[in-house]
Amino acid sequence: MDDKLREKLAAWLEFYRDLGIEDFYRREPGLRSETADSKLESRQHPEPRIPSPEPQVPSPESRAVNLSPPPLALSLFEAPPPPRREHETLEQVRADLGDCRRCRLAGGRKTIVFGQGNPHAELVFVGEGPGADEDEQGLPFVGRAGQLLNRMIQFVGMKREEVYICNIVKCRPPGNRTPEKDEVDACSPFLFRQIEAIRPRLVCCLGAPAMKTLLGIKEGITRVRGQFFAYGSTKAFVAYHPAYILRNPREEKTLREDFETIRKFLKSAG
Ligand code: URA
Repeated sequence: MDDKLREKLAAWLEFYRDLGIEDFYRREPGLRSETADSKLESRQHPEPRIPSPEPQVPSPESRAVNLSPPPLALSLFEAPPPPRREHETLEQVRADLGDCRRCRLAGGRKTIVFGQGNPHAELVFVGEGPGADEDEQGLPFVGRAGQLLNRMIQFVGMKREEVYICNIVKCRPPGNRTPEKDEVDACSPFLFRQIEAIRPRLVCCLGAPAMKTLLGIKEGITRVRGQFFAYGSTKAFVAYHPAYILRNPREEKTLREDFETIRKFLKSAG
């Protein structure tokens, strides 16, 4: 193949990639081309996804497609492969979060509380946001609510180091208020990516804000707790937040029941 032809071919490949077409097939001489139906079929089985950490609606800039092939491109053999997001690690997600200033919570925090625990945990707990103790120590659930969570984890026969614990927002909301929508919107993509990096068997939403963020459920938690939901290729479970139990000790029995359900699930699924 001469250089001119190679350049032309590379330019066309680049052009198709810009359109989102990445797979090319060489037709064997004498074979019939694929029918439109069979092409469609091969595109109809996307892997079930945990909510994408990327913005769902492309910006007008990213939606704009250049409809003419570029005049010149690198040779086919020099051109870099199209960027693909491989399975991320928690370290990569943490690195991307950096010294985050994406929302106003950054202004009041002492420490970013990213998460703690086993990067390959079968069970992930998601709380609301760091409190004063967590902000001080940079670790999730280390205050009174954390002590109750630790007891519940032991109750299901696990150790705290075996699970992974994180929150919807990584910075302490002032006065421990519930995180606001724009704060959740700024921070939750990192939560989704954490879960995707860990790929646990079960994600336990602790409290209504975690339930709403991960599952989009707007119903009251009283009606939803104790239930399992599909969450991408894994499952989610809803339980009361330990801080709620500390304020309503009579509900501790309910929390125990829910953790017993978690224990049975992990035992049966494994
Ligand atoms: N409450 C939460 O939701 N998260 C923590 O880390 C601590 C208390």
